[in-house]
Amino acid sequence: MHTVLVVEDERKLRELVRSYLERAGFAVLTTGSGAEAIKLALSGDPSLVILDLGLPDVPGEEVAREIRPAQVPILMLTAKSGDEDRIRGLELGADDYVTKPFVPRELVLRAQAILRRHAPQGATTAVARFGDGELVIDEGRREVTVRGTTVPLTPTEWALLVGLAASPGRVYSRSELINRTRGYEYEGYERTVDSHVKNLRRKLEHDPSEPRIVETVLGGGYRLGLTRDRT
Ligand code: CA
Repeated sequence: MHTVLVVEDERKLRELVRSYLERAGFAVLTTGSGAEAIKLALSGDPSLVILDLGLPDVPGEEVAREIRPAQVPILMLTAKSGDEDRIRGLELGADDYVTKPFVPRELVLRAQAILRRHAPQGATTAVARFGDGELVIDEGRREVTVRGTTVPLTPTEWALLVGLAASPGRVYSRSELINRTRGYEYEGYERTVDSHVKNLRRKLEHDPSEPRIVETVLGGGYRLGLTRDRT
């Protein structure tokens, strides 16, 4: 869950923004003080700061400067409209800018958009390791590494391997594997599965005549012969 720090000295507006953000699933910290905002932002908790430019103690511009080392994205609020202010806000490192009066829903959408842009690359897709690191599947980068070497796979080979790796040790019939590759390839006969598996083995196996990664199960189909590593 993301924590958003709302810095706004007008209590009513602050609470309105808080309630909208909470309804959108954010944890919310609030303050009306620029000095406290700097402390909270530098504490590292907030993933985003919504910052009013017009604060009574420390001007918003200065708050933005002070919290820059925390590298937390800033969505600025201002009563001033006009391009000059907008550009000034962006120069201060604001990621986006909302002019009062605003629609709270709009503010929430902008906040979500900023957090999406700032999401670390590949954070949502895990890197999976199998057989003590013999096989590494990085879904985010769509990359397969075998015994330390990155191996280029065709889309069908990739789909087959990811399908098998979803449940190591489980036996997949050829028709199940065809389903898994749907969307990657139209040619879906059972014997084409066999030929793709053959190619996959040539790329992955230490000895393709004695496959250990993509195993054949007699009368059944195929399974991943490696167990998934604990990370
Ligand atoms: Ca204000």
